[in-house]
Amino acid sequence: MPPKNGMKIRPYQLLSVVCALGGDSAEARNPNIKKLREAVRSNPDLPLTLQCNVNEVFRYQDPGPGGDTPEGAEFNLRRDLEILHKLNLFPGATLPARIIFNRVWDWIEDVTGICSYGRTTADAWTGWTKAKQASYRRGHRRGIAALIPLRPAREMTADKKRSLAEMVSVGAVDVRPHILLCSLCQYGAGTRAPFAEDNLPELVQMILKKPDIRIRMAPHADWMMCAPCPYREAGANACVNNKGSGGLPNQMRDLRVLQKLGLTFGSILPARELYRRIFKRIPGTLEICRIEPGRPSVWWTGCGAAEADSPNFAKGRKLLMKLLG
Ligand code: SF4
Ligand code: SF4
Repeated sequence: MPPKNGMKIRPYQLLSVVCALGGDSAEARNPNIKKLREAVRSNPDLPLTLQCNVNEVFRYQDPGPGGDTPEGAEFNLRRDLEILHKLNLFPGATLPARIIFNRVWDWIEDVTGICSYGRTTADAWTGWTKAKQASYRRGHRRGIAALIPLRPAREMTADKKRSLAEMVSVGAVDVRPHILLCSLCQYGAGTRAPFAEDNLPELVQMILKKPDIRIRMAPHADWMMCAPCPYREAGANACVNNKGSGGLPNQMRDLRVLQKLGLTFGSILPARELYRRIFKRIPGTLEICRIEPGRPSVWWTGCGAAEADSPNFAKGRKLLMKLLG
């Protein structure tokens, strides 16, 4: 069983996990690293707290030297700080493992300058052996899927089938608010049903036939639209798009849409009326989808964050305005 409330670890242990995946047998046998790997594999969104012995104003989180490797206090602290710096995190930071490990894979391609240095200036600064550095590179090359597997295709196909069957039989279709706008972007981009990754094109198809079906505003990555998505984490009803960080921006977008439309979660409207309200009150994506720039960040998002409205949204809005009268 993975620890329920998360794990407190040292930043260097993140790299040890990658080394173990790259064939470092000592790290693969290390009980702390094995426990961490297994916990993250079974719960990729397990909260991890990154602690190191930094003292000064962050001393409240110092874990003590118990977790140090034998190279000495200076090497251990420098290594932890170099890692936190690369990940743009601070001592004591707690984040879901998926976000942290995505940053490791994105921002730490090799360990030069972190665990090894061009020149040995003293015994205390010998750093990692070449073999250990190579095992990190091998682990890194395997990609994050070696630690956090993708959603199985079979599961997504089965969920697609079940959620579509449910969609046509319920009294009101549950949809998280901001993806109503995504449905316009998709329509403008020419995406039509059947679509593997979500049920929005199927919803639009259904609305064009029956414009008065009822739609309920649902929070989170609700099953009815998001069931087949590769980025849905069913256990938490969560969106883990954008390397684990998609959930926060998407929740904020949901709330921005609700405010614009004068609705709350649980509100139910006939589809045509709802879409007409969107056409009228939301002329572009920018005021809903925009996220302040800055990477890496838990607000990082690949979609709609730019300085301009989405042209696909404009196109989809025009087409559907016509079709929905
Ligand atoms: S889980 Fe996230 S990315 Fe997937 S359809 Fe739902 S909101 Fe979109
Ligand atoms: S720009 Fe916004 S509305 Fe369009 S697909 Fe991206 S997140 Fe969805």
